Amino acid sequence: MEVIGHHKEKEIISKYLNRNLPSYSFLFEGKEGIGKKLLALHTARGFLCEKNTNFGCGECKSCRLTDNLISNVYTGTNLTYNPDIKLVSSQEGKDIKISQIRDVIDFVKLKSSSGKVVIIENAEKMNTEAGNALLKTLEEPPEKTMFILTTTNQNKLLPTIVSRCFKIKFKQLPKEEIYRFLTEKGFSEKEAKEISAISEGSLSLFSLIKDNKKLYQIAKDIAILMLDKQLRIEGIINLADILDKLDNREISIIFQIVQTILHKKTLKGEFDIEEYETFLKEYERFEKAVKAGVKKKLALEGLYFNVKGG
Ligand SMILES: [Zn+2]
Repeated sequence: MEVIGHHKEKEIISKYLNRNLPSYSFLFEGKEGIGKKLLALHTARGFLCEKNTNFGCGECKSCRLTDNLISNVYTGTNLTYNPDIKLVSSQEGKDIKISQIRDVIDFVKLKSSSGKVVIIENAEKMNTEAGNALLKTLEEPPEKTMFILTTTNQNKLLPTIVSRCFKIKFKQLPKEEIYRFLTEKGFSEKEAKEISAISEGSLSLFSLIKDNKKLYQIAKDIAILMLDKQLRIEGIINLADILDKLDNREISIIFQIVQTILHKKTLKGEFDIEEYETFLKEYERFEKAVKAGVKKKLALEGLYFNVKGG
């Protein structure tokens, strides 16, 4: 799996790698879904590559094992992967705990001829204890180790950790890169154009709909009705029937997309800002109502009529 875009970021990382330092600590900062983890894995591949090429030769045993890991992460395979890489992440809604960092410390102490790489995803999730424990290792890392921390906001990390790292800021992906990626992933040119226009420089939206394109279509239909100056009663009743058959996760995905579309239109002046604010409030009510067991059909109709002032 190749990294999309980020040529500048790769160039900076290459320069660091060419210094052949005994150990590295990187901090990758950028918005969700922009490709930080994938580039971290590619950087790890290069660091561990037997031929010592920038992002890996792709042929040596180490590179092949790293590619297995990439495949496990992104396509859910279960292949034997590079034992010299450790991925650390928080469980949904939870902190990264000190026990996880202790595992990391033990891991980097293990002898390995090729080196060790630790990738800590959403490093801002480390609680203070965990952060402090990591700091000690970052200050005196064993030889041939690489740490890559990723975050959406470096200000949420301990400043002492940030100052130990080479910082790589991830720029938003250009629309054209996203467009090309989507067409390669089997989206039609029309879909790819629409989705790249509202993707806001990341692949978050793509990850939401990649397994279920139908959700994108439904979201678009809801957005069209919201944007229409006329009341479209028949339209909303049809959509409410469709929504009624979906589960809460699917509905949440749909509304994330609807919100992105409406937000974009509001910024362009094509959707009334008050209507947009009402939409946000009404969506909150909608979610609560659905969770409380109100029929989705009724809840969506309620949301629509309240936003459209009907
Ligand atoms: Zn290699």
